Amino acid sequence: ANNAGAVGNINNENSATDSKNLRVKLVLLGDSGVGKSCIVLRFVRGQFDPTSKVTVGASFLSQTLALEDSTTVKFEIWDTAGQERYAALAPLYYRGAGAAIVVYDITSPELFNKAQYWVKELQKHGSPDMIMALVGNKADLHDNRCVSSQDAKEYADRNSMFFIETSAKTADNINQLFEEIAKRLPRPAPS
Ligand code: GDP
Repeated sequence: ANNAGAVGNINNENSATDSKNLRVKLVLLGDSGVGKSCIVLRFVRGQFDPTSKVTVGASFLSQTLALEDSTTVKFEIWDTAGQERYAALAPLYYRGAGAAIVVYDITSPELFNKAQYWVKELQKHGSPDMIMALVGNKADLHDNRCVSSQDAKEYADRNSMFFIETSAKTADNINQLFEEIAKRLPRPAPS
């Protein structure tokens, strides 16, 4: 079941960062078509709408997640800048990012290879203490699976990432993905 447990999304505009209210810039990476926009829309709006696109570039969507320990984490989610302009925007895109999600599509070996390119980009530009997730999306299409969970997990382990398979379509593991990031974020010392 999705959204299990006493954890939920809340709309909280308070952006203060203290030991109970964290805020993190999260960047999305991965080739076009792997489902990045759909993952964000599923998390932020609880919908699967393949026709709507998240605005790319300088704008972002935000969503606050409440954890069981009563901490809240406000995600400021940046979708990839268009790849043609990517090189010029890369430094801006990664600046201040505390977490990153690299997405591939489990039905495409080619897109899994491309994910490895994005991981290298992340290692080149991102902060070394960034929380990094490798996400195999479209898990609902398991009959067409071409990338084994074990191969992906081993690759993630070797690159200090955590691994999860999601479906933006069925909502499987979408909230769990963001919860796992939230749990791994460094907690500021209480003042
Ligand atoms: P982006 O270019 O990475 O942002 O990809 P999109 O979010 O625009 O999704 C690309 C296509 O994949 C769309 O046609 C979506 O309907 C489809 N898609 C996205 N997520 C899933 C999923 O979890 N399962 C299935 N079956 N299709 C998905």
